[in-house]
Amino acid sequence: MTQNWDIIIVGGGLAGYVAANYLAKTNLNILILEKGKSVGGRARTKKVNQQYFNLGPHALYRKGKAKPILEELGIHICGKSPKLGGILIENNIEYVAPFSPLQLFTTRLFHTKERREWIAVLFKLMSIKPENLAQQTYQQWVMQVAHSKIVKSLLYTLGRLATYCHAPEKMSAKVTVSSIKKAMGGVLYLDGGWMTMIGQLHHRAIRSGIHVQPHTFVKNIEPTQQNQIKLDLSDGREILGKNVLCTTGPHELNDMLSKKMAFPQRNFFTQMIPVRGATLDVALKQLPKQKRLFAMDTTKPLYYSVHSGYARLSEDPMNAILHVFKYHHPDEHIDSTITKNELELFLDKLQPGWQQYVISKRFIPNITVNQRLPQIGNERMLQSSKTGFPGLYIAGDWASPDSILADGAICSGKQAAEEIILNEKRKNHANNE
Ligand SMILES: Cc1cc2nc3c(=O)[nH]c(=O)nc-3n(C[C@H](O)[C@H](O)[C@H](O)COP(=O)(O)OP(=O)(O)OC[C@H]3O[C@@H](n4cnc5c(N)ncnc54)[C@H](O)[C@@H]3O)c2cc1C
Repeated sequence: MTQNWDIIIVGGGLAGYVAANYLAKTNLNILILEKGKSVGGRARTKKVNQQYFNLGPHALYRKGKAKPILEELGIHICGKSPKLGGILIENNIEYVAPFSPLQLFTTRLFHTKERREWIAVLFKLMSIKPENLAQQTYQQWVMQVAHSKIVKSLLYTLGRLATYCHAPEKMSAKVTVSSIKKAMGGVLYLDGGWMTMIGQLHHRAIRSGIHVQPHTFVKNIEPTQQNQIKLDLSDGREILGKNVLCTTGPHELNDMLSKKMAFPQRNFFTQMIPVRGATLDVALKQLPKQKRLFAMDTTKPLYYSVHSGYARLSEDPMNAILHVFKYHHPDEHIDSTITKNELELFLDKLQPGWQQYVISKRFIPNITVNQRLPQIGNERMLQSSKTGFPGLYIAGDWASPDSILADGAICSGKQAAEEIILNEKRKNHANNE
């Protein structure tokens, strides 16, 4: 059976659903194909007993680009912002994190000179224009602005926190600094998890007449002689689209595209390095140490946060949902057992005796957080969602020139929808002349 669609969206994550919701305003017939049993991609939330587990720690930037786009689409975002601060662990010793003005002056992390240097760096971060850092790596920028060891490691820690990337020698200073500035504007932990966003986007799409087909893997994409694009599906069907928007990762995209689909960026897509990490997601009956809600290690790439300290993530308010996370370096060999042990030991240090309160836990040793480690010059190749192959568009957290993570996914989804709409209008106009 062959079906014809105006637009086929491959991938039912944030990018795919945001694009679908903008495209819903047209009278084009639209299909979303998702290989997973359920939709949501990496923004999905699993309900385990009474607890809502995001796929690792998820926080939405309050001052990011995603929030206004979601609001423009009528999506309600309910959640709370964690307080600034918490614990910083430097060489196994705990300190007050110097993120709020009071903590900055009281923490014993610094000597006087380092404290002055940190304040100067924070002012620099607030006033700097990230566009001016387009030709530098984050490490180069850190070496320029910081002198003491502790201020440098604090900047690397902030960089990891804001981007999930743990490769300062490779990542773009522009994207990292711009993400840190966004993070300084605060984040939101969402009540009910990130699936609440996907749920609303999905229902709006369905109400607008968009078809969603989960459990369908797109095996191959190739052009037809009638200027359409043919998709081979895992259930044996072939379907045709005038436009195809691909929101999978760049390597998955490359695997799907037939050799006949040549375009200039294709090689660039295959060279992208994913940003990866390990996550230990834990639900506890209660926290052994109630006040310990956030910590980061400055010497090791480790993160801990109790998201239920702010967001409603369990039907029992006594329960705690927390995430312990390790940022992987792209060249690192990952040993699952060692990594799990490392995360559990980190949690032991922060919440001694946590094991006796466990309701459920999930460990994922190597998960892709963002499909592209942002590097110098990437933005030049990602100005448009058009691929150079007629009718084939891209979106996803790797496809936005200046943003990564959910901001990148959501911005690129909107941009792709706008470019498809414009192109359709041009085609209609040309046909009517
Ligand atoms: C541990 C972790 C922590 C994170 N924390 C944050 C955070 O704090 N803040 C933040 O902003 N972002 C965070 N993110 C990133 C955020 O979740 C992603 O950037 C965002 O969800 C990506 O959306 P997307 O639509 O681009 O991709 P995805 O969600 O990956 O969607 C792509 C979809 O395409 C489907 N697909 C792939 N190949 C095919 C095929 N051949 N056929 C059919 N379907 C296919 C996939 O199944 C998937 O559902 C985090 C991610 C992880 C993993």
